[in-house]
Amino acid sequence: MKCPFCGSDDTKVVDTRHDPQGNVRRRRECTACDNRFSTVERAILTNPLVVKRDGRREEFDPDKLMSGLRIACARRPISAAMLERVVERVEYVMRQTGRTEVPSQMIGDAVIEELRKLDEVAYIRYAIVYMGLKDLESIRAEIDRLRLQRH
Ligand SMILES: [Zn+2]
Repeated sequence: MKCPFCGSDDTKVVDTRHDPQGNVRRRRECTACDNRFSTVERAILTNPLVVKRDGRREEFDPDKLMSGLRIACARRPISAAMLERVVERVEYVMRQTGRTEVPSQMIGDAVIEELRKLDEVAYIRYAIVYMGLKDLESIRAEIDRLRLQRH
């Protein structure tokens, strides 16, 4: 494992633990620059291809999903670990379908569902971008729907 700070190949493991998802997390220290970083080892499972609205296919990209989530959750009380769980959960939902292709809308819906449980503000932000809520009326309708579900 190369050090992400200085590129040295010489790093040592200072801590190893298993997280609840069954991944192995290792805390490493670079012997050249002394910086520490973490690595996650996990089983590679094949994700279905994502079919976009215009019919194009693309690989599911967890990093892209994560950056979208970070934007939606900016300055909200949501930890990086919580966002990782959302991404894992969405991947899980996709794999559970057992299909080789899933519509992009299915991913959007799964994300929305997870965010709704997590944080209402983040949920609305995500909905505005990904559900294409373009005006105050549709945003307001979505907020009303959220309120109704809560009571
Ligand atoms: Zn280093």
